[in-house]
Formats: sequence, structure tokens, C-alpha cells
Amino acid sequence: MPNRIVDPKKLSVDDLIAEIKKYSPQKDLDLVRLAYDFAAKAHGTQTRKSGELYINHPLATAHILAQMRIDINIIMAALLHDVPEDTDVELEVIEKNFGADVASMIRGITKLSVLKYRGVERYIENLRKMFVAMAEDVRVMIIKFADRSHNLMTLDAHPPNKRYRIALESLEIYSPIANRLGMNEFKELLEDLSFKYVYPKEFERVKQIRDQAVAVNIDYLPTVITQIKKELGLAKINYFDVYGREKQLYSLYQKLLHKNWEIEKVYDVIALRIIVKDISDCYAALGVVHQIWHPLKGRIKDYIAQPKPNGYQSLHTTVFGEGGHIIEFQIRTQAMNDDAEYGVAAHWHYDERGARLPAKDVAWAKELAELQKDILNNISDLEVMKVEFFHNHIFVFTPKGDVIDLPEDSTPIDFAYHIHTEIGNHCNGAKVNDQLVSLDTPLKSGDVVEIVSDKNRKGPSPDWLKIAKTHTAKTHIRNNLTKSRVNEWLHTILPGKKK
Ligand code: MN
Repeated sequence: MPNRIVDPKKLSVDDLIAEIKKYSPQKDLDLVRLAYDFAAKAHGTQTRKSGELYINHPLATAHILAQMRIDINIIMAALLHDVPEDTDVELEVIEKNFGADVASMIRGITKLSVLKYRGVERYIENLRKMFVAMAEDVRVMIIKFADRSHNLMTLDAHPPNKRYRIALESLEIYSPIANRLGMNEFKELLEDLSFKYVYPKEFERVKQIRDQAVAVNIDYLPTVITQIKKELGLAKINYFDVYGREKQLYSLYQKLLHKNWEIEKVYDVIALRIIVKDISDCYAALGVVHQIWHPLKGRIKDYIAQPKPNGYQSLHTTVFGEGGHIIEFQIRTQAMNDDAEYGVAAHWHYDERGARLPAKDVAWAKELAELQKDILNNISDLEVMKVEFFHNHIFVFTPKGDVIDLPEDSTPIDFAYHIHTEIGNHCNGAKVNDQLVSLDTPLKSGDVVEIVSDKNRKGPSPDWLKIAKTHTAKTHIRNNLTKSRVNEWLHTILPGKKK
């Protein structure tokens, strides 16, 4: 997918329509425009954390799907996906305007939007909800992946702890699901967008390694492509395309971990992909490649006869090219390629000829059971990592689900001052997980904290200095106490003058 990351500030509904026209030229796209106008009106002047208009987010989400050549009903649902959750417009109104099918996808998305990290138990419960939604309609997950991808593209607007949390969740939860569903395109997008936030140092290192490998191959590959095209033509093999494909950074990272960071042992930093008409062309093309270049022992893999567990099919071989270059070839049909990129979404994806693949029988019950097992196993790792990363830190939530990062043993007073000085100064009590608690209660990771404020309150109590743990809270309390002492003193020396 070329140019995945589009600056959403520059994206317009016309760009979206133009993108859809590339694969759906005959369709009347007025409905898409109507869905956009409807969503734009509903979100009105709402803005995102970055300050841009909220509508940019559903528009960008829809645009990601259009770049993947996805069916327009899903694109309309993507445009409208945050309307019921974030505006006063009810789902029924959407249903009246855009039909039951679009509305039912948005219902699924809305159910998922409460999925926020709030401690392991609730998280697992929320994940179950996600699996249910997915089983009901897998298109909901397609929209969710696009939604999450755009959120990852705009992560810099958030504080570092929130960036890390969202990226880690994408890496540990969303990308394995995309992989299981065979949606490689989303798996890679989610991983590459998250990688730099979760492992920043490793990201830089891997990027450097890949850039070097690309630089080495940049002059060499075009001649290989020309040569193989000529030979395929001579052998009368029906090929559609031959192109080089860089290995995605996160999977290169995982491979490098396996190979002790010895880049010489990774042969597919850039692979050459040959797309042919049918299965017999795949094997014939493999023969042609082996006639030109000598294959490496043990590197010929027939994933057509023996597909990978997620259904992936392709022939792989690694050969010794001219001048000591080692190249991996991946040979497959167009349908195998679409399947590999889009997985279960392939049914809603239009190929170059404007055709859709038949719905895949994905044996949901079995598939979901395994998925759940995988993901839930991952959760414990996720916890360990979080504990390490946030050593001596806890993270608690506002009632809206925003994460607040505090030092261990912080109290509701610290939380209140972290949110805003005035919230701190007028703090009169606190609820933790819906229970009223005293202000000196130590908070734990995963707690949902709500401050009860009293606008008539004069200011902090001197006792709070003993309760507060953070520097911020203590400073604010001290400043405020000094100010009120000064006021009192002024009051005594200037009788009659009100403060
Ligand atoms: Mn959204």
C-alpha cells in the first residue's frame, strides 16, 4: 500500500472519494459523501488532543480502508464510527439514513469503544467482548484496526505513558488478532506504528540495519527484476508483476532477535515477489528462478502444498545471486497475495479487476477459542512488562478512562493536583472505583479515581502536606497556604478590607 501515512490535516473527503474511485469506478459515491457530511455535522466543533477537528479522525480511518480497497459500506461505517459514542446523534438516526447494515457495524464498534485498560480483570472481560463482537461481524474488527492505526499515527499528541500503553496494547493484542485473521496488511501497519513507542532504541537500530541493506541492494535489484521478467516471458509463464518488498521493521526485529543480531543471516530484508496467474505458474516460475541462480540448501519452502496455520500460501526460495548477493523469492498467485495481505477481509477487498474473493470459511468457533487462548496467555507478559517499565510508578484512570501516571503510594490529593491546581485546591473527597475513600488512601494501578470537589472550599488543608507524595501537589499546597496566610495577615492589619 503506497503512502500509508497521509497527513490527516491535509486529507479531504474528495481525497477519500478519489481513492475509492480507483477500485469502484462504477459506484455512485454520493452516499459516502453524505456519510461524511453527516459525521462532520454530528462532531461539529469537537477537537482531538492534537487540536485538529475531530472529523479528521473518522475521515482518516475511512481513508486507510480505502487504500486497502475495502467495500464502501465498511467505509461509511468507518466515517460514522464515533458518532453514537461521542455525539448526541442516536444510532437509530444513522440507521434511518444509512441502512441497517452500516448501523449494525457501528453498533459493534460502539460496544468495543468502552474497551480501555483498567486493570487486568476488567481488561480480560473487555477482550471477551471484543471476541464476541468479532464473531458476530468480523467487519467490526476491520474498522477497529483502521481506527487503531490512525490513533497510532497521531500518538504524539498524548503524554509518553499513554503513548506507551496504546502502542503496547496494539502490539500485544491487536496485531496478533490481525495475524490470526490473516490480515497481514493490518498486522504490519499496527506493528510498525507501535514499534518505535514500545522499543524506541531497538527501533532505531533495526531501522539503521534495514536502511543499510536497502542501500546495498538499490542498484542491484532492478537488474535482477529485469532479468527474471525476461526469463519468465521466454518460458511463457503468465506473470502479473515482479517487485521488491522490504521486510517490515518489526518482523525484521523479531528475526534479528532470533539470529543474535547477525544481519548476514537474514536473507529477506528485501524479498522479490513474483505474482503469477495460477498454481502451475508458481511451480514453473520457481523452476525458472532455480535455472538462473543456485538455491541455498534447506531454504525452499512450499507453503502452497502446506499452508501456514493462518492460511498463508506461497513458494519461497533463497538463491545465490550475482556478486555474492543472496536473494529471497516469494512466488504466489494474485489470490494468494490478496489473501496474505487481507485475510478474512479479502472478501470485502476489491482486486485489480474489481472482483471480490468469496467469503472465507474461517471456522469461527475454533479460530476464536485459539485466539483467546493466545491473547490471554500474552496478558501475563504484558503485565510483567508494564511492571518493569513503570517501576515505582502506578497508573490510574480518570472516570473518562484517561491514564494518569503517578509515583507509588500516591493519594487522591496527588491525583487531584495532577489533573489541575484548582481541582486540587477544591478537593473535598474522593471516590476510588466508585467507593468513597479518605484522602490519604494510597492508590493502586488500575484504580478509577474521581475527585469530589466543593467550589466553596477555601483551599487545601495544612494536613495535606503529610498526605501528598508528589512534588507538584506539595508545591501547590504550600503556595496556596502561604497565599492564604498573607491574605489573613492583610486582613488583620487592614480591617474592613475584604480579600
Ligand atoms: Mn475512533
